[in-house]
Amino acid sequence: MKCEQCGKEYPSEYYFRTETVCNECYEKLTPEEKQTAHQPKLALDPSRLTTTFTLDGYRIQKYLGVVRGITVRSRSLFGTIGGSLQTLVGGNITLFTELCEKTRREAFEMMVDHAREIGANGVIGIRYDATEVMDGVTEVLCYGTAVVVESAA
Ligand SMILES: [Zn+2]
Repeated sequence: MKCEQCGKEYPSEYYFRTETVCNECYEKLTPEEKQTAHQPKLALDPSRLTTTFTLDGYRIQKYLGVVRGITVRSRSLFGTIGGSLQTLVGGNITLFTELCEKTRREAFEMMVDHAREIGANGVIGIRYDATEVMDGVTEVLCYGTAVVVESAA
């Protein structure tokens, strides 16, 4: 196993604090870096995933068409009870907020996987769309245009 920070080879994951960062390097990270170090790595470089239709520093070589990810969530399955309890105490309904975040992230990751499968190395014009397909059931769609880009430099 190789640490992505220092490039040192280690015999086992025992030496690692996260999937890609060794104990030694982890101690040197800033709090923000520690946060991102724990997030699963995206299949594509995040700098090549954008809501705009151009990519700074890259030239678009090929358009591979629309890619998308869809997740469907039933509100009743998750936290309706917890949600209504929180409503009663008048707090922010964090259970619902978290659920939305998770659903969006899943749709996003599916879209990225799809893009990678068809040989893209970037996705532009990324959008989210949410529709309540029936009472309490929400479909979250994430879509964008898969592209092959090369560095303009
Ligand atoms: Zn390291």
